[in-house]
Amino acid sequence: MSNLIKSNILPWHVTQWDSLLANSANLPHALLLAGPGGIGKSGFAQALAARLLCESPEDNRACGRCEACHWLATGNHPDFRKVTLEVDEPEGEEGATGKTSAKKTAPATQIKVDQIRALEDFIFIGSHRNGNRVVIVDPADAMNTAAANSILKILEEPPASVYFIMVSSKWRNLLPTLRSRCRKVLFGTPAAAEAAAWLKQAGVADAESELALAGGAPLKAKLRSERGAKDSTTQILAPMDKLPLDPLALAAHWDAQLRANSDLTLEILVDTVQKWLYDLIRVNAAASPRYLSSKASQVARIAGNADPIRLQRCHASLLKIRATARHPLNTMLFLEDLAARCAVAVTPNRN
Ligand SMILES: [Zn+2]
Repeated sequence: MSNLIKSNILPWHVTQWDSLLANSANLPHALLLAGPGGIGKSGFAQALAARLLCESPEDNRACGRCEACHWLATGNHPDFRKVTLEVDEPEGEEGATGKTSAKKTAPATQIKVDQIRALEDFIFIGSHRNGNRVVIVDPADAMNTAAANSILKILEEPPASVYFIMVSSKWRNLLPTLRSRCRKVLFGTPAAAEAAAWLKQAGVADAESELALAGGAPLKAKLRSERGAKDSTTQILAPMDKLPLDPLALAAHWDAQLRANSDLTLEILVDTVQKWLYDLIRVNAAASPRYLSSKASQVARIAGNADPIRLQRCHASLLKIRATARHPLNTMLFLEDLAARCAVAVTPNRN
């Protein structure tokens, strides 16, 4: 267990960890761990909670052996709460094409005020162990306005020995008043070589290309590789190497992918197509691809003949339709529309 807890401090976070805990007695009671998604902020928050609750920390880390560490690891520590997105009841409604969108339980999109109110007893009654209490809110940007105001009220008169750790990759969306109550700890994307080395050690084959597909975020890359997401990226984009694109065939191909792979959602599909467009725009402007380095030659061939304005326009329109990808009125129509936009975007420039 010791290794389990200690390994949560990732190599690219060690400096931040050490400087934050250099004077642990003066650790601020409200922290905001801010930075891009998929780089390990949640693990950092969890390790910090463990450190604050541990009854005999060693080397400024949780010992992993005491009773408190054991309770935390088994999810039973009475002085710890984690507020996160709860899973909504499945909606049970079927998309227009039948199976595609049926019976997938959707995670909630908001942290609601009741979840924050439920903390009040925990916060104001006192510690079970006469020690610290820790609340993690992750992702903090998912709090709706009422929830954010409710936690703000708590932070205005923070009870002694309670630590709030907010985790957010969209921290600019947080209420400014809430942000100003927290000490911000800013995380960046780790150096590619360090992240790739870590991925290799974690058993991820083709670490560099996985890392590129995940935009440089190593934990996202690991998760993607565990879910076979790289394969699904390859599958989604397979018919797009040959021009001209046939929108109806492409839409049918995507529909088949969605049916065959229960982990694949319409949002992931749109996200993948966005990455493809983003890389076409980059390569068209003589930069190297950011995500699809493993398909560099195919991307270069299409980008070389493409019209930059058409590519840009399509990329911008995808940002708009992405919002409807979660609950499309008709999945097949959505896919056909998406495919048609892509076909127009990569029509070779004849000027
Ligand atoms: Zn311990």
